[in-house]
Amino acid sequence: MIQLYQPLNFMGMVYREIKQALIDISAMFDILKQPNEISDAPDAPALIVSAGALRFDDVHFAYDPARPILRGLSFEAPAGKTLAIVGPSGAGKSTISRLIFRFYQPQQGRILIDGQDISKVSLVSLRACLGMAAQDNVLFNDTIRYNILYGRPDATEDEMRAAAALARIDKFVEVAPGGFEAQVGERGLKLSGGEKQRVAIARTLLKNPSILVLDEATSALDTLTEREIQETLEDLPRKGATIVIAHRLSTIVKADEILVIDNGAIVERGDHDSLLAQGGVYAALWNRQRAEQHAETPDQPETETP
Ligand code: ADP
Ligand code: MG
Repeated sequence: MIQLYQPLNFMGMVYREIKQALIDISAMFDILKQPNEISDAPDAPALIVSAGALRFDDVHFAYDPARPILRGLSFEAPAGKTLAIVGPSGAGKSTISRLIFRFYQPQQGRILIDGQDISKVSLVSLRACLGMAAQDNVLFNDTIRYNILYGRPDATEDEMRAAAALARIDKFVEVAPGGFEAQVGERGLKLSGGEKQRVAIARTLLKNPSILVLDEATSALDTLTEREIQETLEDLPRKGATIVIAHRLSTIVKADEILVIDNGAIVERGDHDSLLAQGGVYAALWNRQRAEQHAETPDQPETETP
């Protein structure tokens, strides 16, 4: 009996492996069948932005079909409001911003701007209404001026300088050799992560997009500069939706709504006070960050935020 069982068991294992391989192959063909994410449908209309509201409607996404990253996300970022997204690293937060920019396409569900499915409009018109500053920003190997003006090439000198000041990169430019003409990158200044972030914020402020996405945009800054830029961003008169992805919760305390994402799903939602009162994931994260902050700066007076 045992003699017979062994080969049969082995056969079963082989069968399961072959079946899994076939599933993988069919999943691969499903990916190949998908229209190219970046290309537009023929005659794709231009996105028409009125208010600048963004909506995720049951969005599912995986880079690799075997590993779902977003599992049915639904939320609304209303025009004129700030929606914050927090959660552990790897939760899928940056994936959300990549889908908004249509670097990838959801496998299921829709992303809408003012009621229009972003997969159906021309990519140029979509990206024209979006602006993003992120954790890592690629700068062009050109001058600081070029890198800021890229946000809106027809901006005036005064507008460009105002954006630089709001992003707190103006003092740095003052002492840089050549000022705004200083070369960024290999041939010139090696900018720190925080300086790059400030150039990217200046660029985005200059663009003044309908929909603004800040993906850990101030993560490399010292607490004081981060707070200053934070105040600037809070005071900005915003017509459309602002989406702030943050690791440091102190930067999103004032958001109109906070989504806590874990493992590709929304596990808690609400404003700061209601989430704290809930005593769940958000509250635990908040308390941990407060404790860490106090441990780092024991001589500082107590502050309200981590
Ligand atoms: P977060 O911003 O919340 O830290 P991400 O959205 O960047 O998380 O990533 C979510 C998950 O997707 C992570 O496990 C990450 O490793 C994976 N991931 C990100 N980008 C890719 C990619 N291009 N291909 C495959 N997996 C990816
Ligand atoms: Mg991220």
